[in-house]
Amino acid sequence: MSVAASRRIAAALRQPGRTCASAATTSHTSRRRCFSSTGSRQLMETTGFTENELMVREAIGAVCSQFPNTYWQERDETETNPTDFHAALAKDGWLGIALPESYGGAGLGIAEATMMMQTITESGAGMAGAQAIHANVYATQPLAKFGSKEQLEETIPAIISGKVRVCFGVTEPNAGLNTLSLTTAATKTDDGYVVSGQKIWITNAQVASKMILLARTTPQEEATKPSEGLSLFCIPLDKSQPGLELRKIKKMGGRAVDANEVFFDNYKIPASSLVGQAGKGFKMALHGMNAERCLLAGEALGLGYAALGKAAQYARERVVFNRPIGMNQGVAHPLADAFMRLEAAKLATYHAARLYDASKKDSSIRQDAVGVAANSAKYMAAEAAFTACERAVLAHGGMGYAAEYDVERWFRECLVPRIAPVSREMILNYISERVLQLPRSY
Ligand SMILES: Cc1cc2nc3c(=O)[nH]c(=O)nc-3n(C[C@H](O)[C@H](O)[C@H](O)COP(=O)(O)OP(=O)(O)OC[C@H]3O[C@@H](n4cnc5c(N)ncnc54)[C@H](O)[C@@H]3O)c2cc1C
Repeated sequence: MSVAASRRIAAALRQPGRTCASAATTSHTSRRRCFSSTGSRQLMETTGFTENELMVREAIGAVCSQFPNTYWQERDETETNPTDFHAALAKDGWLGIALPESYGGAGLGIAEATMMMQTITESGAGMAGAQAIHANVYATQPLAKFGSKEQLEETIPAIISGKVRVCFGVTEPNAGLNTLSLTTAATKTDDGYVVSGQKIWITNAQVASKMILLARTTPQEEATKPSEGLSLFCIPLDKSQPGLELRKIKKMGGRAVDANEVFFDNYKIPASSLVGQAGKGFKMALHGMNAERCLLAGEALGLGYAALGKAAQYARERVVFNRPIGMNQGVAHPLADAFMRLEAAKLATYHAARLYDASKKDSSIRQDAVGVAANSAKYMAAEAAFTACERAVLAHGGMGYAAEYDVERWFRECLVPRIAPVSREMILNYISERVLQLPRSY
């Protein structure tokens, strides 16, 4: 079913005549009408997007419209996983948007996947909706590139159909952003490995049956280079097996989706779970990181546009001192400014995503250029989203603090793109060092 569905997506998007040029003549009005589940008018300017990107936006918008804001409010309050939302996207093959066609994926690029993630957050689902599927889209990229034929045949179709859910296990409490210092160890045994150590902030670990795990197979002091000695695994996450314990973290936002501390204590994994060559895991994980920054940037944009749309609607309708509050420039100008910040970040985001995709086919595009574009986009989109969400709350006055108006939920969630998967400060460090050639500060 999922394989057929994914092929349908690919075929629909690849019909002859669907070109960038035809996108410019598309009726944006009709696309806008069918998209929003927030009830507010869609704000983002869509001129210049490719036909495929717009088709993805329209199709994902249609799926999301089945999940109104009240659904997400309720999931947030009760902290229940949006399994039916995940299933709805899986049903039509969307989880395989950027996975290879040979394994049932749609074989599209990160630009289309970014549009999918943006459309999800923008629909009102917010970061909870995005996080429900995020790892399935990006953490599977290194697996698809470096996994063996057997691994891909076993996992990719099952991930696309929604039968298997994936989480990504990198962050550790004692390593923080210094990923190279992580200590969770996978030790070789006769018939596989045993894993011992601790991961933190692992999203969806409660509902996932597989984890893409980065663990140390050579102690740091014995590794030839700091980036060597880490290996990538695609492991079963079997909660009934000894040596595995999960503890849910109480968190600020995106409460529908679980985040966890994961404890491994001599947890057995099969030898076949190793992805690619042992010791080269960090480089493989990096493969997915630029893609993830683009997806996160898209998610941030969607959140920002959703919040701004709601704020503009409220500012048109709310009457105080006998006039709509939006007649006051003190209310209107911050919103107009937030719009332009989002539009600028949008250009940076889709530039980065398209550059990432082009670099797969054109070796003259340097990976460090992709890295600069992807990091800059994530930074700018996260900041623009924060500005939009904060101003949306303030434009609502007291009602901005009420769950019913959604903007408080999005405001709580908009901190995530600023923190993860890499913080603002580390992006500033990266640009200082790589672009401005300033001395490394850490
Ligand atoms: C909601 C959520 C979901 C997540 N999901 C996942 C997941 O599924 N899988 C996963 O592996 N991880 C996940 N993470 C973890 C996330 O990637 C990390 O929280 C993030 O990378 C930051 O790491 P840290 O929390 O250890 O921060 P720390 O490394 O402890 O840093 C703390 C602060 O110090 C600053 N800082 C540290 N060093 C420097 C320096 N040299 N210069 C300037 N500033 C510095 C940082 O910028 C940051 O502001 C998630 C996090 C959140 C909040």
